[in-house]
Amino acid sequence: MTRAYDDDLAAGFATRAIHAGQRPEPLAGAIMTPVYLTSTYVQEALGENKGYEYARGKNPTREALERNVASLEGARHGFAFSSGMGCVDSIMKLFKAGDHIVCGENVYGGTFRLFDKILQPMGLKFSYVDTRDPQRVADAVTPATRAIVVETPTNPLMRLTDLAAVSQIAKKAGALLIVDNTFASPFFQQPFKLGADIVFHSTTKYLNGHSDMVGGIALCNDDALADRLNFVQNAAGAVPGPLDCWLALRGTKTLHLRMPRHDANGRAIAQWLAERLGPEQVNYIGLPTHPQHELAKRQMTGFGGMMSVEMGTRERAAHVLGRVRLFALAESLGGVESLISHPASMTHASVDAARRATLGITDGLIRLSCGVEDVNDLLADLDQAFQGLPEHAGRAAGRPLRAAAATPA
Ligand SMILES: *Cc1c(COP(=O)(O)O)cnc(C)c1O
Repeated sequence: MTRAYDDDLAAGFATRAIHAGQRPEPLAGAIMTPVYLTSTYVQEALGENKGYEYARGKNPTREALERNVASLEGARHGFAFSSGMGCVDSIMKLFKAGDHIVCGENVYGGTFRLFDKILQPMGLKFSYVDTRDPQRVADAVTPATRAIVVETPTNPLMRLTDLAAVSQIAKKAGALLIVDNTFASPFFQQPFKLGADIVFHSTTKYLNGHSDMVGGIALCNDDALADRLNFVQNAAGAVPGPLDCWLALRGTKTLHLRMPRHDANGRAIAQWLAERLGPEQVNYIGLPTHPQHELAKRQMTGFGGMMSVEMGTRERAAHVLGRVRLFALAESLGGVESLISHPASMTHASVDAARRATLGITDGLIRLSCGVEDVNDLLADLDQAFQGLPEHAGRAAGRPLRAAAATPA
């Protein structure tokens, strides 16, 4: 049984978030997609089955999640994986030794580690460039280039890539544009509309939104590319369990409710931090002082809850990290609860110190994932954590919390 809005891209985002890919369960009509905890499926007769043979290949809970997120990204096909890294690894299995990939120099630390420590020794070739400048991407392209991999905004420096410009470069090179859309989520950024060929997510983050599972998903429109991804998904087998798919699916139902609040809280907190430390210390794409704010406004519909802040020294960073009470000191992001972290020693510890320095991931940098709590409580928490902040050249540390700063720009 299909229903009008099942995979209907004409329906609004919220309607698709709640309904796409889902239909009442056939036995009892349960409105929620069941968690199909099974490894295999009974076949009716030799050569006759319902399209399900073994659960690495297909699982109905997983399919519901895949169709749901595909719909939110405006894509025809979705393939879920056991983690964001399992997803990137599987995407990269589309390529072979000798193929050249142009990659953003500022991608997620784990993505860089996979490329540099595992795939490069296996024969894939990578050039890492500052993708803020499309010309650098174009200059890095060689006749062997098969893909351009970008993350926008980047983690943790919130740098942007002009997706429309880079997609032109990819097309000209006959290469795939692969976009990590984890930070923006499909609610704020739709890379397929800007020319992406594959979009992927760590569903662990905003899509799930509740910090209770780990997963990844890749989306695409091209049928031949989908066949290849489908083949890798089954052949390499980095598939998610059905309960994790169900949790992610429960999360996507409220994506459109959570993201505006992450955004509002993010704007207010960035403004407070900018007033406190100076706007140049705050990497938030919603601040007019962010060097790529205009691009953010053009290619995204919101700025979200992610930001990083240059505290100046490791001592000052540690002061704040050690005193927060509502923000939890933890890796990860995108959950309803606010998190704070120290990229140099946490998410980016696998990136060597020299490279971190080149990228601007200093020992004084802290990263905030603003959750959906009451913003005044978050601001009050930061305010108390900033009390007694050791002095840093040029900046006074003790300015009082201004309640008016809570109004989003
Ligand atoms: C977390 C993350 C990943 C990796 O995903 P996992 O689910 O942790 O394996 C990849 N890209 C970005 C931007 C991330 O934040």
